[in-house]
Amino acid sequence: MSELIITDLKANVGEKQILKGVNLTVRSGEVHAVMGPNGSGKSTLSHVITGKPGYTVTGGSVTLDGVDLLSLPAWKRARAGLFLAMQYPTEVPGVSLEALLTASATEAGRDAGAVKAAIAAEAERIGLAEALIHRPLNGDLSGGEKKRNETVQLGVLEPKIAILDEIDSGLDVDAMRAVTRRIEEETNNADAPLGVLAITHYKRLFEELEPDHVHVFAQGIIQTSGGAELAEELEKTGYAEWVSNDEPEEDDLGTFDPFSDTTFADRLNLHEG
Ligand code: ADP
Ligand code: MG
Repeated sequence: MSELIITDLKANVGEKQILKGVNLTVRSGEVHAVMGPNGSGKSTLSHVITGKPGYTVTGGSVTLDGVDLLSLPAWKRARAGLFLAMQYPTEVPGVSLEALLTASATEAGRDAGAVKAAIAAEAERIGLAEALIHRPLNGDLSGGEKKRNETVQLGVLEPKIAILDEIDSGLDVDAMRAVTRRIEEETNNADAPLGVLAITHYKRLFEELEPDHVHVFAQGIIQTSGGAELAEELEKTGYAEWVSNDEPEEDDLGTFDPFSDTTFADRLNLHEG
């Protein structure tokens, strides 16, 4: 049984405070949904927990099975059992998925042959074309292929706790079903059930993946928590209740979702008329 404990976590980007005291505990087998408006700090939360550079932690703690994650570099956090499926998976020219996973898993003491077999099995299971295992990581992949790719990594690396940052963005219904079904299976894995922190805007993520807890995240903190019914409610009401009226909503050009319904041109006001 594993436990990720986030206590009063505060973090800045430059001078600006983004995380304002986040408290959340994710245990093996549990699925926690974190839902909130654009620009509220959800990706920042995932980055601070996993150790992406560029953020300053100003208070609080994050532990995984008692290990202080915030004092470790990102790779040691991964070694401790933490996994991040990125909102915008990074393209890595010259490094294939197979090379990445083989290096990562053999360095952790696993047999290279067994890892290669596991990669092939996971790719087949999730519907990722075999050729993509050998191509540069995420290079010229579609949205669906990128997120399948992330899910293969999750399946092979077998983390204790996975953070999924909008794994539903850019997915068609088939990819969505394949990805969420695979992750749900891991949360029910009898030997080592996966704990999940799933960041999303949409309850469609939860058709296959069943949330045990739903948290509304806005203005840098968890505003309220509930069960799966809260996701239904949010789909109807939106987040207006938790977004301050005095502060204009962030212009989140820096964090926009290129896969959302709004087009590039709309966001940039380049459309005609
Ligand atoms: P969300 O994922 O909820 O949409 P983010 O965590 O991406 O929100 O962003 C939260 C706020 O922090 C936004 O106002 C965003 O512009 C700002 N921010 C995030 N990362 C950076 C960065 N590297 N530099 C400057 N501002 C940033
Ligand atoms: Mg985000």
